[in-house]
Amino acid sequence: MVFVPVPITLDSVRDAPKVLLHDHLDGGLRPTTVIELADEIGYRALPETDPDALAAAFLAASHSGSLERYLETFGHTVAVMQNAAALKRVAAECAEDLADDGCVYAEVRFAPELHTEQGLEHHAIVEAVLEGFRIGTERAAARGRHVRIGCLLTAMRHAARSREIAELAIRYRDAGVVGFDIAGAEAGFPPTRHLDAFEYLRQQNAHFTIHAGEAFGLPSIWEALQWCGADRLGHGVRIADDVVASEDGEVKLGRLAAYVRDKRIPLEMCPTSNVHTGAARSLAEHPIGLLAKLRFRVTVNTDNRLMSGVSLSGELAGLVETFGYGWADLQWFAVNAMKSAFIGFDERLALIEDVVKPGYAALSA
Ligand SMILES: [Zn+2]
Repeated sequence: MVFVPVPITLDSVRDAPKVLLHDHLDGGLRPTTVIELADEIGYRALPETDPDALAAAFLAASHSGSLERYLETFGHTVAVMQNAAALKRVAAECAEDLADDGCVYAEVRFAPELHTEQGLEHHAIVEAVLEGFRIGTERAAARGRHVRIGCLLTAMRHAARSREIAELAIRYRDAGVVGFDIAGAEAGFPPTRHLDAFEYLRQQNAHFTIHAGEAFGLPSIWEALQWCGADRLGHGVRIADDVVASEDGEVKLGRLAAYVRDKRIPLEMCPTSNVHTGAARSLAEHPIGLLAKLRFRVTVNTDNRLMSGVSLSGELAGLVETFGYGWADLQWFAVNAMKSAFIGFDERLALIEDVVKPGYAALSA
């Protein structure tokens, strides 16, 4: 009998077991949900009230080249996520959507401090989201789609709540919160402003990632790793600035890039999002191609599924088209991400051996 690999199409990529480490809850709502939740609370500022038109408006704003317009879109999603029922619904749908896209493990992050406008307290916000993930995971499982969701709590770089959010992450570490993150504008807000949060987390033997090296260059990555002690880099795309390829094809790594590769520091790369925000000119020119070739610990992520109009399957299918990747490469991305997840080693190993590898074996045999 001759086995022929399954052709790589968007549909077959959707069937492959995938692992997602960088996805924002407030960037991944269904357009219909944004509209319905806005209706419920009388929020009238949405740019469109038809789901397709709203999705198009968000996508247009995300690559308008204007950071202001891009951030406005989060203003809308966050505005409709201010009560427990809404948070629960959004989290449940997120889990279902990721499961339906073939994600077998996903870490989804959100910033509790952005959901207090109607007086919700941080613990109630976290509990609503965790409950939503549980409900969505169960609903998907009933349809035969199995995903495990780990939650990351994000603190905003420009604010001063990071220590408090870090404590919240520890409080809920056995209830589904697997790590911590800081996000927001890089320029002018170095991660070293939040050192007390990172020190606290290290003392608690906890994991964290830092958005670094997206808009801002190598100093931001260096601080995140060498001052703050980040386990992973959110984006980290600018590490490519420390990689010099000469005309004859020889590639030389600077000390920081060498450190990142030697220590197997995971890069949570989000190609489409980077193209939209201008951190990369195009998919073809995105450093992910070079960094993957040099065998950095590259992972592929969505960042904001609604704003960028992407899914993890779509993102991977785009890379297949651009860089000619095959099933072995897609398995490598999934295993890289699973190895870099913030859940325990035994659980990561079980997902790699029992789910990820058999899944790709079935597709590439
Ligand atoms: Zn992000």
